[in-house]
Amino acid sequence: MEQRELSPHVTRWAGPNGGRVPFGNPLTVTAGTTTVLLDSGLQIDAPPADLLLLSHFHEDHTVDAAARATSVAIHQRDAPVLASWESFRGAGGLPEGEWEADFRREYGWNPMPDIGTFGDDAVFDVGGGVRVTVVPLPGHTAGHCGFLIEPDGVFYIADVDLSTFGPMYSDVGSSLADTRATLAAVTEVGAEVIASYHHKGPYFEREEFLADLASHAAALDAREGRLLDLLATGSRSAEELTGRGIIYRVETAPWYAGPVELAMLRLHLDELVERGAAAGPEDDGRYRLAGSAG
Ligand SMILES: [Zn+2]
Ligand SMILES: [Zn+2]
Repeated sequence: MEQRELSPHVTRWAGPNGGRVPFGNPLTVTAGTTTVLLDSGLQIDAPPADLLLLSHFHEDHTVDAAARATSVAIHQRDAPVLASWESFRGAGGLPEGEWEADFRREYGWNPMPDIGTFGDDAVFDVGGGVRVTVVPLPGHTAGHCGFLIEPDGVFYIADVDLSTFGPMYSDVGSSLADTRATLAAVTEVGAEVIASYHHKGPYFEREEFLADLASHAAALDAREGRLLDLLATGSRSAEELTGRGIIYRVETAPWYAGPVELAMLRLHLDELVERGAAAGPEDDGRYRLAGSAG
C-alpha cells in the first residue's frame, strides 16, 4: 500500500489495483492535529480522521464510514439515500436478492440517518489557514461534488474519473445534462494538482488532465452515435437497445451491465427526443429517428 504527498497538507492513499472499481484512492487533508478524509475506500491505510467528507453516496466511497472518522458529512442532495438500506437500494434501481448481505458486509455498509450535510457553498476550515471548499459536480449522482483544498491548490474531482470508458449516470438521481455541465465545470477551477478517486491521475500537468478529460467526455458523443446508428436501422425500445454495445462492449460487459445500461440509455433517449433528433416512445415503447417512419 503506498501513500503519496500531493502537496504540503494533502496525501493520496492508494487503494489496490490502482484504484480501479471497486477500489479507490481517498485523500487526507491534515493541518496541525486535524485530519479530514475525503472519501473512504476498500483496504485503505489512511489514519482515523476527525471528519470524513463524502463526494457522493456510492458504496466504494463510503466503506466503513462511521468507523473512519468522528463525524461524517455528505451533500444534502445525496444524504437521504444513505438514511436506510431501502433508500440506497432504490437509488441504484437494484432488485432485492441474496447479494444484499454480502454487499453490505463487503463494503461495511450501514445506514447513516444522522449523517451531517452540507450545501453547494460549504467551506470547511481545517485550521492553520487550510480549508476545503465544496465544488458541486452533479450528474453522476445529484449530490456528487468535488473538493478544492487551499492554499495547496489541490482539486479532488472524485468520480469524474477521467476513464476512457466515460461517465456513469445510471442512478435515480443521475442527469445527463448535469454530467455534461460538470465536464465543463471541472476546467473552470484553478488548481495546481487534480486528483480523481479511481485509476487516473493524479495530474500535475494541466495538459495531461485536459487530454484525459477530453477522451473521457468523448465517450458521450460516441455512445450517442452508436445509439443513433442503431435507431437508423429501425425503431427500438430502450430495452431492445440494451446489450447492443452502446455503453458496454458486448464481449466484456460486467454482470451488472444490463440495468445500468438501460438507465443510461433512457437518459440519452430523453435528450434526443428533447432535441428533436428522435421521437418516442410509441405505445409499444419504441423510439425512432426523427423524420423516419420507423
Ligand atoms: Zn460513484
Ligand atoms: Zn467510485
